[in-house]
Amino acid sequence: ICWSVRGGWHRPRVSPYGPISLDPAAAVLHYGQEIFEGIKAYRHADGSVHTFRPDQNGRRLQRSARRLALPELPVPYFLQSLRELIAVDGAWVPSGEDQSLYLRPFMFAKEAFLGVRPAHKVAYYLIASPAGAYFKGGVKPVSIWLSEDYSRAGKGGTGAAKTGGNYAASLLPQSEAYENECDQVVFLDQDRNVEELGGMNVVFVYKDGTIVTPQSDSILEGITRDSLLQLARDRGHNVVGRNVSLTEWREGVASGDIVEVFACGTAAVVTPIGVLKGRDFIDEQPTGTLALELREELTNIQYGRAEDKHGWLYRLDA
Ligand code: PMP
Repeated sequence: ICWSVRGGWHRPRVSPYGPISLDPAAAVLHYGQEIFEGIKAYRHADGSVHTFRPDQNGRRLQRSARRLALPELPVPYFLQSLRELIAVDGAWVPSGEDQSLYLRPFMFAKEAFLGVRPAHKVAYYLIASPAGAYFKGGVKPVSIWLSEDYSRAGKGGTGAAKTGGNYAASLLPQSEAYENECDQVVFLDQDRNVEELGGMNVVFVYKDGTIVTPQSDSILEGITRDSLLQLARDRGHNVVGRNVSLTEWREGVASGDIVEVFACGTAAVVTPIGVLKGRDFIDEQPTGTLALELREELTNIQYGRAEDKHGWLYRLDA
């Protein structure tokens, strides 16, 4: 799906998947003026197709647009684009355990010029790809590499926006994580507070049942995290957003105050953190059951196996 803007959104067009033609001077290629979203469509047992809290993705796309000086796509248009794509061929949404259609909306500066300024000609696209289970053979705890040399975003930067530059900045630290036999990288802020992983938020569970998650205006506000924390509140957990320093994390685990650490995002949903590794330490992380229970509860809602008590599902095929 492709829409373009030049003084208002116009020319919606659904076309077969294929290359985009772009002027070599297109602003996006030089200045990275682009944003995106990630969202999944799920097929329920009765065949219907639903997505999860797409209004939140639509609003986050608008916040990202503001930060990147791109025009805001109205949320109703955003929702319409998702429905139109499914209307082309609903069979694209696979059925079966943990299967989904991954939807990737994105917007970029198409205008060709070489000076540095916001572009006036912008395109919005939506592409899709079937996604299988993130974990083959069951959910496994991940190992996390602590990035000491690199940050993902700074104060006042673009950390809260879903824009390519943030991910570009995380590629090198992510390869450092692989070199150190870790699955993912965790970033700290300038005060050594925990921020997030390359593509997931982090959550800490304390012995007294309190759940703490980093609150910062330089991390992406995950929709999965927000939903899991709501489910935790429904169960009576006290949920707090605040700074968590690396020292608090490591000492909390050592003293038994922190009983579980997990990461969450649309792709993996929830994954327990099994190990935190730094240049000169390896901390085994405690394992609990809350992360997996919340994961089960959330995926049951997404796949229509449990009551959607918060009204989070949005039907795409009707
Ligand atoms: N942080 C980053 C940097 C991410 O890329 C993602 C994935 N979109 C998340 C957190 C989790 O966000 P969500 O739960 O909305 O997928």
